[in-house]
Amino acid sequence: MTKELNFAQDLIDFIGKSPSAFHVVENVKEELVYNGFTELNFSERWNIKKEGKYFVTKNDSALIAFVVGKGDIEKEGFKLIGAHTDSPTFKIKPNPEIIEENTYLRLNTEVYGGPILNTWFDRPLSLAGRITIKGKDLFSPKTYLINIDEPLMIIPNLAIHMNRKVNEGIKLNTQKETLPLLSIVNEEFEKENFLANKIGGKLDVEVEDILDFDLFLYECEKGKIVGLNNEFISCGKLDDLAMVHAGIKGLINSKVNRKTNVMILFDNEEVGSQTKQGAASPMLRTVLERICLSLGGDREDFYRSLSNSFLISADMAHGVHPNYVEKQDPTNRPVINGGPAIKLSANQAYTTDSISSTVYESICKVAGVPVQKFVNRSDERGGSTIGPISSTQLDIPSVDIGNPILSMHSVRELGGVDDHYYLYKSFIEYYNY
Ligand SMILES: [Zn+2]
Repeated sequence: MTKELNFAQDLIDFIGKSPSAFHVVENVKEELVYNGFTELNFSERWNIKKEGKYFVTKNDSALIAFVVGKGDIEKEGFKLIGAHTDSPTFKIKPNPEIIEENTYLRLNTEVYGGPILNTWFDRPLSLAGRITIKGKDLFSPKTYLINIDEPLMIIPNLAIHMNRKVNEGIKLNTQKETLPLLSIVNEEFEKENFLANKIGGKLDVEVEDILDFDLFLYECEKGKIVGLNNEFISCGKLDDLAMVHAGIKGLINSKVNRKTNVMILFDNEEVGSQTKQGAASPMLRTVLERICLSLGGDREDFYRSLSNSFLISADMAHGVHPNYVEKQDPTNRPVINGGPAIKLSANQAYTTDSISSTVYESICKVAGVPVQKFVNRSDERGGSTIGPISSTQLDIPSVDIGNPILSMHSVRELGGVDDHYYLYKSFIEYYNY
């Protein structure tokens, strides 16, 4: 197997064992600890040392890892890469059990982020997330991660015979038509606590101790390498776990440098980032300031360090779609396996400017990685990402980049095997430079 295929398979395995943002953080934590990183806690005093490797988590769904540089932090600053842990899905509501026709047991859900809804139909689905149970005191409930890891439910389509216009496009009602079917029950009482019983059995905790949960649906089938020459990655959550994977590997496998290298995994990008663990929070700023203070610097040193810092905001991009070639900008047309794309927008939906773009392009050149440019068609409003939102908290130069994929926000997205390795190489070069 080539190193590119190996790396792509490693990404698929990582995504396969990371069915929720909590599991992403749990798996990254495990890998960091294995590679000599020490966990810090926000509530304790930090005693960090030059050349030390550390990480800290927030809400169990966001994480910041860093390798302290050899140089003076106020003169060298930070080299940062940001990505996000969350993906569009469905979240289970409280009291979720609904009985239909005295027989069918469905779960009440609401949409998280912006999934392509119809891609979730007719696929075996499972559940993952975290539950809370009584803790030692009222403010500290205990939490458990849970991954049911078996085909538990399905959102069935309506037969074409009852919906003759289905192939002309239909509007879906997310309170009625996207609820997953879980079981067939014979008596009304069987629906009581059906979900809690399942979770209790899985975790070996008493059902009455389960106080609340953050549970999300995910597709059971794992990602696959596809294509005549094994060139594509067909997998859910490439946006943005491909960047999480490449970024964490880049941080772990690069050298300790003069600058302090930082990898940030924000949560809640898909719902606007306005949470304590999102890019619109002071979380990153707080961590960077505490690094400076812990190294013996003061607030002035912190501000000086920021003026010498750089951020790569890493989120996926849109490649030219062969069935919809007219959807792309006429002169900037990134293709799969043509290398990472620098994302630009005149209205600053992306943070890239000509300086930060040049910096990233130069890094790629040194690394031997091809680069492409992505700009929305002038008559299409594109998405945004963590870069512009981070800039409201941290005024440092930043570039928005990402690998081109097709079917973004489908339950299975399509990316390139070569691109994933290219991107990793560019991150290694960035952290090493
Ligand atoms: Zn994204």
